[in-house]
Amino acid sequence: MAAHMTPEEFRQAGHAVVDWIADYWATLPRRPVTSADPPGSVAARLPTGPPVTGEPVEAVLADLDRLVVPGLTHWQHPGFFGFFPANTSGPSVLGDLVSAGLGVQGMMWATGPACTELETVLLDWLADLLDLPTRFRSTGGGGGVIQDSASSATLVATLVALHRAAGGRWRQAGVDRRYRVYASAEAHSSVEKAVRIAGLGADGIRLIEVDPVSLAMSPTALRAAIEADRAAGVVPALVVATVGTTSTTAVDPLPEIGPICAELGVFLHVDAAYAGAAAVCPELRFGHAGLEYADSYCFDPHKWLLTGFDCDAFWVADAAELVEALSVLPEYLRNTATESGAVIDYRDWQVPLGRRFRALKLWFVLRWYGVEGLREHIRRGVALAAGFADRVRADDRFELVAEHPYALVCFRLRGADGPNERLLAAVNASGRVFLTHTRVAGRHTLRLAVGAPQTTQEHIDEAWEVISRAAATLSRES
Ligand SMILES: *Cc1c(COP(=O)(O)O)cnc(C)c1O
Repeated sequence: MAAHMTPEEFRQAGHAVVDWIADYWATLPRRPVTSADPPGSVAARLPTGPPVTGEPVEAVLADLDRLVVPGLTHWQHPGFFGFFPANTSGPSVLGDLVSAGLGVQGMMWATGPACTELETVLLDWLADLLDLPTRFRSTGGGGGVIQDSASSATLVATLVALHRAAGGRWRQAGVDRRYRVYASAEAHSSVEKAVRIAGLGADGIRLIEVDPVSLAMSPTALRAAIEADRAAGVVPALVVATVGTTSTTAVDPLPEIGPICAELGVFLHVDAAYAGAAAVCPELRFGHAGLEYADSYCFDPHKWLLTGFDCDAFWVADAAELVEALSVLPEYLRNTATESGAVIDYRDWQVPLGRRFRALKLWFVLRWYGVEGLREHIRRGVALAAGFADRVRADDRFELVAEHPYALVCFRLRGADGPNERLLAAVNASGRVFLTHTRVAGRHTLRLAVGAPQTTQEHIDEAWEVISRAAATLSRES
């Protein structure tokens, strides 16, 4: 049997791995953003089983270069403008490395007190940083927790909302009648998934129409839907409002949605997965107007706030209600700290029992960048996107399809879908730029989302050149 890696061996191999990552980042701009290999290429390059005897880490690093990297989409590439960013950073990676080295399982306060307490304090810091309502602070009745993703945050919010809608009986009785969840037709697919996982069935979600121009939820349609359901004996349990929809970063009007939820007694969860990060800048907090009505709120530092996946920050206004909805306490987890009631056991705030020390990477990020550094990152992204939108606006061949309040620009060639589909394929085949698409009012639309830390004006200029040239080639061909 190969011996365990000694701390000295780890030190040496670890330095080599850190060097490898630093080289990867330094050489990223020269790589094609996506792999051109057909499906199965990476699998075909791998051996049919693990080695019988152990190998040194250098052998794995060599195979990373040879077998893995050629089959990657480079999300940290300065020309990556697809989906939403999933940016990471040096401090985030180092914090995550410390978490991995500690190997702490923070399911309860008692299984690693610092793991819980650092997380609670950091989520209070973040609440201050985003200027969230005071009721989300741990010092009030609420508090924050790190979930793996916004999808999990929505699922947890759904479970708490059902608990409340059933007058607390949902724990015992299960879903014994019809409950309903409301979200706009532009809401993320994770809402539908949460409804399905919660057992509400396909009828459990009602997609509310959006304003045709802003693509934001219509409060009038929301009220009408809730009232109609109530009249039909269905229990409205949850409204999920979105700040920064996935397609176009539309912002649902919380100042109007909030009072409806308050008046009709429906739990309000606000999903700001991508756009929430912008609120570190005071001038970009417009989407949070009306947030004081929300029962829960989340955003993903792993999208636009330089913290590697996975890190979703989720807050509730009523922590006791959350714990009541989710807590199950078997004998083998009983301990005096939990029984004292003086500690937070984050196992009760999420779906899984176990949890990593994810607060560390966030702590490293917050301390490395400071508030000013985070603001600069967000402002630069917003300015670069605005500059790109100006190029689109100034070119008659193109049209902007939606507002761009953050760092996502939705645009298309005027006219039919076909040329837009071909344009996207041609741009992505360049290897220099990667865009994704969506459908807005039924029309094929290209999305350019700025957010990678390495992206500068130079890369925006290159993206525009690639897009403009591809459009010219297409029109010559047709
Ligand atoms: C990206 C996104 C999600 C899902 O994010 P995960 O953290 O990957 O689950 C949810 N809602 C919105 C609005 C998003 O843009």
